[in-house]
Amino acid sequence: MKESEKHISHFDIVVIGGGASGMMAAGTAAARGKRVCIVEKNNELGKKLKITGGGRCNITNATYDIHALLSMYGKAHKFLYTPFSLFGVNDTFRFFEERGLPLVVEAGNRAFPHTHNAHDVFRVLEKYCIDNGVVVMLDAPVERMVMCRTKARIDAIETSKGSITARAYIFATGGASHPETGSTGDAFHWLKDMGHTVTPPSPNIVPLRTAESWVHTLSGVSVDSMKITFLVDGVKKFHKTGKILFTHFGLSGPLILNSAHTIADMLHEGVVTASVDVVPHLAHGDLDKHIQEIFSEHKNKNFKNVAEYIAPHGMAVSLMMMPGMPLSDTKVHSITKEERKHIVHTLKDMRCTITGLMGMDKAVVSDGGVPLGDIDLKTMRSRLVDNLYITGDLLHINRPSGGYSLQLCWTTGWIAGSCAE
Ligand SMILES: Cc1cc2nc3c(=O)[nH]c(=O)nc-3n(C[C@H](O)[C@H](O)[C@H](O)COP(=O)(O)OP(=O)(O)OC[C@H]3O[C@@H](n4cnc5c(N)ncnc54)[C@H](O)[C@@H]3O)c2cc1C
Repeated sequence: MKESEKHISHFDIVVIGGGASGMMAAGTAAARGKRVCIVEKNNELGKKLKITGGGRCNITNATYDIHALLSMYGKAHKFLYTPFSLFGVNDTFRFFEERGLPLVVEAGNRAFPHTHNAHDVFRVLEKYCIDNGVVVMLDAPVERMVMCRTKARIDAIETSKGSITARAYIFATGGASHPETGSTGDAFHWLKDMGHTVTPPSPNIVPLRTAESWVHTLSGVSVDSMKITFLVDGVKKFHKTGKILFTHFGLSGPLILNSAHTIADMLHEGVVTASVDVVPHLAHGDLDKHIQEIFSEHKNKNFKNVAEYIAPHGMAVSLMMMPGMPLSDTKVHSITKEERKHIVHTLKDMRCTITGLMGMDKAVVSDGGVPLGDIDLKTMRSRLVDNLYITGDLLHINRPSGGYSLQLCWTTGWIAGSCAE
């Protein structure tokens, strides 16, 4: 096919990537009367959005105080006041509620659509785009940028279906987590070629791998309140209390996912271990008393039949695997005081070695991307390339789980869509 035959069309604005931030950007730009096209490599829009929050979509975090909200975004907080003033949490609520999707707020200020269905969030954005006349091009991976020879501008993009020209381009191709959803980090290469600094993506908000089999044995067990202390080369670094989920490869659950960023750094410093206190609500002495009561009530039973009264639900099997435990058929009345003290100590300090983070396929987001200093955050325009705007997970912003990632998508997508010219 000749180059001229492959040329498709000209638009005011082309949005590359039809995920959360891309759809918000496209609909907003089209609502201003711009001719907008979304170019998406999948055969559907919003593939990742549809699996967010376990299918329920934790759409934002209802922290209305802007300073409290900013404090959740690590070092990026100092850059984000302006964007969140332009489109903040209140605006997210208003945007979805005006379009017939009320939000409800749950523990930790996590906001969800009242239907608890991520597809409903997707449908609001899809309608926003379609009603405003956005042209959607599916199955069209963007392969290459065509740069202007004389100025720092994009002249055209080449897709598998031909080239497209526009006055402005919005990159919304996401990060590199869950690559099966289409986010494979493509734009990081283009941005680097254009002179942007790009910190290579690494998994973040991600479960941890552990070495010990007692952890793997508990696969599927989750305990609502445990205290976990992380150590490097035996020195305590930090602790958290909350819900932990055991998996066949290690540890997961919100507390673990939100610790991953810090643990990644600690893994460079030395051997990282976790000390899990499975009964944080009882001090050593109280736990000992509690176990004595259980032992006197069941003194003629085997240890294995009593372990389940001592350990949190589902954890007896692992307690019995720990070094120094009485044998499973030991009669409770023959357990010595030293052995009982050892049981107490073990329940307060179950150790495992953290061998690493799980990969991109298990990560909620990737760390890395374009530093905020490279972007004019009043418009989301690149400071290096005149007609380029950047949104969503492409930006280097560390944040925990809890709706903070999607809020960034709504904010940056709305600003880019409002400002791209
Ligand atoms: C399992 C999971 C659960 C999550 N749950 C939550 C949650 O409950 N709350 C929350 O706040 N955040 C959550 N997140 C994070 C959130 O989903 C992301 O922050 C958000 O989707 C990022 O949006 P985006 O627009 O930047 O990119 P994406 O949503 O990743 O969209 C990028 C799009 O660009 C397309 N694309 C990529 N390369 C090309 C190319 N070369 N050509 C054309 N198109 C391309 C992709 O196919 C994709 O459709 C979750 C993430 C995961 C993986």
